[in-house]
Amino acid sequence: MDDLPVGAPHGLKLRAARETAASLREVILAGGFTDGQDILDPEHIKRLLYLKFDALNRPSLRPVVNATGVVVHTNLGRSLLPRCIFKDLLEIAGRYSNLEYNLDSGGRGNRYSHVEDLLCELTGAEAALVVNNNAAAVLIILETLAKGKEVVVSRGELVEIGGSFRIPDVMSRSGAILKEVGTTNKTHLKDYESAIGPDTALLLKVHQSNFSIIGFTKSVPITELTELGSRCGISVYEDLGSGVLIDLSRYGLMHEPTVQEALKAGVSVVSFSGDKLLGGPQAGIIVGRKEIIEKIKANPLNRAVRIDKLTLCALEGVLRLYRDPEKAVKTIPTLDFLTQDLRAIQTRAKRLLASLKALKIDGLGLGLKETISMAGGGSLPLERLRSVAVTVKTSMGLASIADMERLLRKNDPPVIVRTEDDAILMDARTILPDDIPIITTAVSKACCAAADDVPLGVAEA
Ligand SMILES: *Cc1c(COP(=O)(O)O)cnc(C)c1O
Repeated sequence: MDDLPVGAPHGLKLRAARETAASLREVILAGGFTDGQDILDPEHIKRLLYLKFDALNRPSLRPVVNATGVVVHTNLGRSLLPRCIFKDLLEIAGRYSNLEYNLDSGGRGNRYSHVEDLLCELTGAEAALVVNNNAAAVLIILETLAKGKEVVVSRGELVEIGGSFRIPDVMSRSGAILKEVGTTNKTHLKDYESAIGPDTALLLKVHQSNFSIIGFTKSVPITELTELGSRCGISVYEDLGSGVLIDLSRYGLMHEPTVQEALKAGVSVVSFSGDKLLGGPQAGIIVGRKEIIEKIKANPLNRAVRIDKLTLCALEGVLRLYRDPEKAVKTIPTLDFLTQDLRAIQTRAKRLLASLKALKIDGLGLGLKETISMAGGGSLPLERLRSVAVTVKTSMGLASIADMERLLRKNDPPVIVRTEDDAILMDARTILPDDIPIITTAVSKACCAAADDVPLGVAEA
């Protein structure tokens, strides 16, 4: 076996050696000798050392194969950026740019100008602003418009999005006072009406995102809320969560309220995520009436939640695609994955199946199964997206399904799968064509590892 790379940093080699020794010590102390394998065999130790070194030496943030079928998978990076914007991204990353430089005047420019005009064109808004993410957008909007004042929200919309984002908590951090109205399942217009007082700054509508209340329910349509707002001289803010720019029901999905609809209904300010159904980079997009947007721009917090140039470049690229909605649905991966027809998914599943079958591994049970993919990211929670998965079962001599799942996850690049009914499920909806050879190699290696019986636990980084 080769030595550790000659030019490798000394500190890194040292760390790999120390951590290998420490994990060996742990195995010995725990009495974890593997039958017939001398844990102190120099070749074995060397192998563990190389595995450890490789694990420490590669980037921590790495691409993975998403075979879960969850399209906007928050843990796996939500949306993939369209390939057609990669070139622009590289240019902006490696060169100086006019990020805050006005090329007409030769003076200081505005970072938001690169997307504001486009957002207004696409949504019909008077003005726009982008921040780090939608959580930041909610925070800065409430802080700007309602600090020390009351914000009226329906009890049915006090949502928790996950990762500790909860509307009541964000509200209290912003200094706004939550005025809950209605009940969990029913909120009427008169509930809002009677909550409005001299301290009311905003009426807030929050998209329920990741859940739905069914049965005996009532919520107030946004148009009635904006009517009430204008009658009382109070602005309405809608946190759309996902925020779509095209009507998804035209592509066979459930209707999600669009940003344009919210603005048309008279909402003063709307916020939504850049990386959920929009299919762009992580960002919080704020659109609405000019005087409100100007106030938010002037908030000193804005600097703390500002958007980075790479994100801005990606966002502009994705937004430009929306000028042609038909093309957007095909080129923006999130929309493409969500609107794929079953036949295309089936074709990809069959190709993966054929590729795995060609491995000719004894004891590997392969098949196809109809399954349901999820939109994810708190979007379209009720949507049942019919899909096709490749199923993998193992019999005696090969790794168990739990081990197989772990070995695939530990592969380089990692392959993330679902397990169901003691089988591995790989949903073809989110599998890219060039993932097929990667998955095939990973499955083949996982089967060899099982046969080799390498004590992988020792080398886990
Ligand atoms: C997802 C979501 C957020 C948070 O958006 P991020 O972009 O993840 O910060 C806020 N509000 C609603 C309703 C959401 O669905």
